Amino acid sequence: MFDGVVRRTVAVWNALLAGYARNEFDDQALRLFVEMISESEFCPNATTFASVLPACVRCKVFSDKEGIHGYIVKRGFGKDKYVQNALMDMYSRMGRVEISKTIFGRMNKRDIVSWNTMITGCIVCGRYDDALNLLHEMQRRQGEDGSDTFVDYEDDGGVPFKPNSVTLMTVLPGCAALAALGKGKEIHAYAVKQKLAMDVAVGSALVDMYAKCGCLNLASRVFDQMPIRNVITWNVLIMAYGMHGKGEEALELFRIMTAGGGSNREVIRPNEVTYIAIFAACRRSGWVDEGLHLFHTMKASHGVEPRGDHYACLVDLLGRSGRVKEAYELINTMPSNLNKVDAWSSLLGACRIHQSVEFGEIAAKHLFVLEPNVASHYVLMSNIYSSAGLWDQALGVRKKMKEMGVRKEPGCSWIEHGDEVHKFLSGDASHPQSKELHEYLETLSQRMRKEGYVPDISCVLHNVDDEEKETMLCGHSERLAIAFGLLNTPPGTTIRVAKNLRVCNDCHVAAKIISKIVDR
Ligand code: ZN
Repeated sequence: MFDGVVRRTVAVWNALLAGYARNEFDDQALRLFVEMISESEFCPNATTFASVLPACVRCKVFSDKEGIHGYIVKRGFGKDKYVQNALMDMYSRMGRVEISKTIFGRMNKRDIVSWNTMITGCIVCGRYDDALNLLHEMQRRQGEDGSDTFVDYEDDGGVPFKPNSVTLMTVLPGCAALAALGKGKEIHAYAVKQKLAMDVAVGSALVDMYAKCGCLNLASRVFDQMPIRNVITWNVLIMAYGMHGKGEEALELFRIMTAGGGSNREVIRPNEVTYIAIFAACRRSGWVDEGLHLFHTMKASHGVEPRGDHYACLVDLLGRSGRVKEAYELINTMPSNLNKVDAWSSLLGACRIHQSVEFGEIAAKHLFVLEPNVASHYVLMSNIYSSAGLWDQALGVRKKMKEMGVRKEPGCSWIEHGDEVHKFLSGDASHPQSKELHEYLETLSQRMRKEGYVPDISCVLHNVDDEEKETMLCGHSERLAIAFGLLNTPPGTTIRVAKNLRVCNDCHVAAKIISKIVDR
């Protein structure tokens, strides 16, 4: 159609561009854009850029992403709201959320899309606390009469706008990641008031948020009250039961879902994610054979073809239960077009638990080629060697890691207190209560020893003596967050701590003993 148009207007060019961009034909979109600016007499406008920018972000070949920003400014569209929204999105997806924030801060006409884009940007970059602070800011901009929280006014028209279902769907995973239950409940209340809670996507995000904050009952209640549920809603609940160690219930939910036994009798066809949730439930409950059976029948019963991450789940399931050799053999049966990174990682993790140097080395050999910049592969392999007493080899892996310039992501924990989310980094002394927290952990560790706690110093990477290792364990971010919770919340209340990385064995044991001592 486009080729047949004799007199092309800007709108015609934009229509095809938008079509390409929306369907993620990014190369074509960019090529058409270049054609437009070089061959036609038409100048691109704001609509053009709103289509081109998302294509630029996704297109790996196109490297000069800042260049297009400069081009837009030169063309005089730098202050256009739609263009600014698209630019913010672009920079956030490039991991440069600081630049998005600068653009956001300078905007004089923000709309709901600007707010949602900025909040999404923070979430995409893992800046959950920033996302929650933005939501808080939206709240503070309430109407003069104070009748409604969550209201902002567009500067130009004075028309109020409120966080919509997109805002809520964006922020709720942030609450889940930070275990910020108070904020999550506030959003739930807002959703009910604004009649957004019936929305299937918002409802699913609420179920997920409650489950990840440890409130399985609330998650289940929200699920039951939803008038419409889709496969995502079911997946979230199945995942939640699995996560809480209730494998039996998770599998029962799976059966109900596929047989149409839910309260509104809908038959839901499971998808790839459903199987991930099911395998995770099997893993938590240690049901290896049940998991294997579901894996081998998934295609025949529900038409879901196993992907790389399904294999990885099964490798994990077998490996954790000690069937490391079988796990290795399963990887060898994987079709060559599937991504094996996750499967090898699972195998390496299993080798750490069961101290298998032989298979660990095989897995690590593959991972060092496939993902040379991921710190955890080196750390795991080094730990496997250390626990087998192979110090030289352990040192060799660490040296290799250093040579490659690979850095471990710093451990970070969050705890919600009042309106704020407090953040702790490993060994961090920047928190105002830092000294107090370390002293408290010190006294606590004496009581822990009486309860039989023995520090597991194998969790410490560095080459230091044992006493120093113990001190370093005490500085793990989750310990600081737990201490903060103990010192700042009333006795008997639940302490919820969220973390970016997996908890180490030692902190896991310590948390159990602390929980027993202080009765929390
Ligand atoms: Zn730890």
